[in-house]
Amino acid sequence: MGIFGYLDRIAAEAEARDTRTPEQRAADVAAYEARGREAAIRLAAERVEFLAAAPRYVLPDGTAWRSSDMMGTLRTGRQGDQGRRLHAVPEEDCGVWSGASPALCGAQPGPRSVGWGDVRSEPVDCPRCVAKLRKFGL
Ligand SMILES: [Zn+2]
Repeated sequence: MGIFGYLDRIAAEAEARDTRTPEQRAADVAAYEARGREAAIRLAAERVEFLAAAPRYVLPDGTAWRSSDMMGTLRTGRQGDQGRRLHAVPEEDCGVWSGASPALCGAQPGPRSVGWGDVRSEPVDCPRCVAKLRKFGL
């Protein structure tokens, strides 16, 4: 018996042990899905709240910047500070699946880096980014 035959047998045995009526099963599935939806809605609301509370810097050109740090190895990055500083990073570039464009000060994750981390709740503390923000009165 191959692996799929084996898995089919396990599924069939689990099904045979399930004494619920089809209606009960459907109700359980619906309740499970409703809990999942509630959790997703709660997470999304928490995310919105977090982003609203975290510092957001809007430059005169309309671009929005967030406080974020570099992730991962940065051997060939222009500034290998490895997350010791919080830079002003383009809002859309924060987070694991995002881009790696330069911070306001020019610091940029290297090719070996995972990129910018998620938006942080602490304000930017990179001195060069702070100086640029100050120039814009932010
Ligand atoms: Zn910086």
